[in-house]
Amino acid sequence: MPDPADLEHRTTELLQRLIQFNTVNPPGNEQALQEFLKEKLDAAGFATELLADVEGRPNLIASMRAESDGPALCLLGHVDTVLADASEWEVDPWSGELKDGCVWGRGALDMKSQVAAEVAAATALAEAGWRPESGELKLVITADEETGAEHGAQWLCEKHPDKVRADIVVNEGAGEVFDYDGRRLYGVCVAEKGVFRFTLTAEGTAGHASIPRIGDNALTKLAPALDALAGGRVVPEHSPEPDAFLDAIGIENDDLAAALEQVESVNPLIAVLLEPMLGVTMAPTMASASEKINVIPSRAQVKVDCRVPPGLGEDHALERIRAAVGEDFAVEFDETVVGNRSPIDTPLMDSIRSFVEREDPGAGVTPVVLPGFSDSRWWRAAFPDCVAYGFFPQKAMSLFEAAPLIHGANERVPVEDLGLAARFYSDLIEETL
Ligand SMILES: [Zn+2]
Repeated sequence: MPDPADLEHRTTELLQRLIQFNTVNPPGNEQALQEFLKEKLDAAGFATELLADVEGRPNLIASMRAESDGPALCLLGHVDTVLADASEWEVDPWSGELKDGCVWGRGALDMKSQVAAEVAAATALAEAGWRPESGELKLVITADEETGAEHGAQWLCEKHPDKVRADIVVNEGAGEVFDYDGRRLYGVCVAEKGVFRFTLTAEGTAGHASIPRIGDNALTKLAPALDALAGGRVVPEHSPEPDAFLDAIGIENDDLAAALEQVESVNPLIAVLLEPMLGVTMAPTMASASEKINVIPSRAQVKVDCRVPPGLGEDHALERIRAAVGEDFAVEFDETVVGNRSPIDTPLMDSIRSFVEREDPGAGVTPVVLPGFSDSRWWRAAFPDCVAYGFFPQKAMSLFEAAPLIHGANERVPVEDLGLAARFYSDLIEETL
């Protein structure tokens, strides 16, 4: 096992360097950063390769294989970031400055920190002479995650499946500690919701707006639908992940509505996060009607961002939509992606649980569902037997401190958490291989 202080130091220095490469996507420009990481992994004895779909935006694959067969463990991460408006920051977002015990900069949480911890753990082990006893350790560092992975994870899994195939994948998605009723819990992202965005259309009859009753206003007909969606509430339904979440926080899950109410009364913030896991969410975000101020619209439309629990499809989404808004509108899906999941009870979950018990006695772990999606979906789609989890443990910075910083101003990560995460990846590598 590498020395914890050395591991923390390595991860911190590495993250500072990674932040200094501007990899805002678009355009990404991941080449220089990937070459820098490749050199580090080469030097530590890994077999490395840069694979690019488009020039200047390579993905990096590093591997170390044992003589005997065994599981392939893949530590996954992306190195592109969203943009940053420097005028809103206390420090230069590409400085990687060390301040108040944190490394600051764009990507400090999402997710150069995890990439740094994964690479630091792997190189520290390899430099100390560690080699897998069986199976294979892979590090897959992707480009182009923030705009959809067309040139990154999606391309790798579709065009180079043999190079990125894995049995166990650890990626981003969860891991920050949160407190519920006096108990500390670490989320493990085991699933991602599907996306079923749709357009609601109301029809009417055009007419001059100076005589309102001459026409039939399609826009005002949308009012009941908007009203029905205004609360952002879901119809709670059972599925393995929220059931296990309620179990982890010690709440009976027979009656989900009652369970949600109970969580709300103890910790409203947790209820806000739990509710989308429990069912179909619908958030109206864009609207259009008449093009002219003096014309009563004959047609009005609202676009709704709808997210559906893993595994459920269009029929289920439509059933929930009709139950919410009724039959008076046309519903047309603009985007349909079924959500994905990995099983909850796995050796990887056991490893995570025992790590948390070692590092934070009395704390527990709980599966969570990401309402959005990450690169994990491409592995789950390409390799149906693989177990892919999102886990980057954070103890010094809680879920509610970290959440607003991701894609926000003053993104930063405590040095202490970098050390914690690197210890997790290091322990996992040794335990698994
Ligand atoms: Zn990310």
